[in-house]
Amino acid sequence: MAKILCVLYDDPVDGFPKSYARDDIPTLDGYPSGQTLPTPSAIDFRPGELLGSVSGELGLREFLAGLGHTFIVTSDKDGADSVFERELPGADIVISQPFWPAYLTAARIAKAPRLKLAVTAGIGSDHVDLQAASEHGLTVAEVTYSNSISVSEHVVMLILSLVRNYIPSYQWVVNGGWNIADCVSRSYDLEGMDVGTVAAGRIGTAVLRRLKPFGVKLHYTDRHRLPESVERDLDVTFHPDAESMVRVCDVVTINAPLHPETEHMFNDAMIGKMKRGSYLVNTARGKICDRDAVVRALQSGQLAGYAGDVWFPQPAPRDHPWRTMPHHGMTPHVSGTSLSAQARYAAGVREILECWFDGRPIREEYLIVDKGKLAGAGAHSYSAGNATGGSDEAERFRQQTK
Ligand code: NDP
Repeated sequence: MAKILCVLYDDPVDGFPKSYARDDIPTLDGYPSGQTLPTPSAIDFRPGELLGSVSGELGLREFLAGLGHTFIVTSDKDGADSVFERELPGADIVISQPFWPAYLTAARIAKAPRLKLAVTAGIGSDHVDLQAASEHGLTVAEVTYSNSISVSEHVVMLILSLVRNYIPSYQWVVNGGWNIADCVSRSYDLEGMDVGTVAAGRIGTAVLRRLKPFGVKLHYTDRHRLPESVERDLDVTFHPDAESMVRVCDVVTINAPLHPETEHMFNDAMIGKMKRGSYLVNTARGKICDRDAVVRALQSGQLAGYAGDVWFPQPAPRDHPWRTMPHHGMTPHVSGTSLSAQARYAAGVREILECWFDGRPIREEYLIVDKGKLAGAGAHSYSAGNATGGSDEAERFRQQTK
């Protein structure tokens, strides 16, 4: 029997919800590419429930207990005395979410001789040292497409909120004011602006599609070019690299995975090539941006605004400068874990586990690492190497909140 170690974020401070704002969530027929939704044999949860926090258990308890497996769920993931680190040596499978990542560094993988499968409940497996995972023969899989549309909706919201200066305007109302001039002196229309995405994968393309009706000029850069028909349909301009794209954009959104090629791509030099007063929206991974370069650019006015939900490490320490920098619209990592998304990625995790236990192949599009190398979606979108360096700093949040 297997030991499955699952790291999820904490329950709400007021306790696990007893009821929800809505009674159900829409039923989808499939993903926009034609890819089918997750196909587990069954689910033991009601779509729309909170599944991503500790008590939600991704809806897996009944299924795993029924098969006689040991299922440990914890949010205590950082530091040598954490539950995660204590249980890891005996774990066969680790499940983690990017929102509250259990960093699987080379050192941790070395301490887990039984570990064979690391499942990402969501998309983005950069919290796993993919190089070490390959070398140790681990399979790494994620639930491709499960929350791509969720994130694309969030990106559109963040772009509009920055350009229109929504958050400070909301704050004036909460504080009892009616300060129209204060609100609008940084407020513009998005219409007519040049908007570019770094990467036009599932999220990037969905962002382009959603922004087209706003009457903006669209741009993208990617390692692989979109089909000509898609470029024509979206009326989007391709740029061979990020440098050439950012020079002409008013708004840049980052939608690439974090891997050695994209780590710190937005440093002082890249941000310096952007138009003065650009907006940068990053819901991909915090480490794609140089933390301090972003702060400097907001302070100098090179960037008019920065928004996103991804940080490094996660959780971000209380003194992380992005919490207090000017003109930001940061949240914790939430865009891909709406209740709607949770239902899909929880079902996808179950599908992956069912395949694993039955000895059936995991869908190619879910694979990131397999048989000692990048595989499936991972072979297409990642580059070999490791992007977990510095993740041990996540322990600081735990110490600061003790
Ligand atoms: P996809 O795999 O569909 O798209 C990723 C795209 O990035 C691919 O088109 C890939 O190119 C491109 N890419 C990779 N490296 C580069 C590079 N160096 N320069 C330009 N483009 C590059 O994934 P999704 O769109 O679904 O997700 C993208 C990322 O968003 C995830 O990896 C994750 O980090 C993040 N994410 C964040 C979430 C959140 O909650 N905030 C939730 C879900 C995802 P190609 O394949 O053509 O080589």
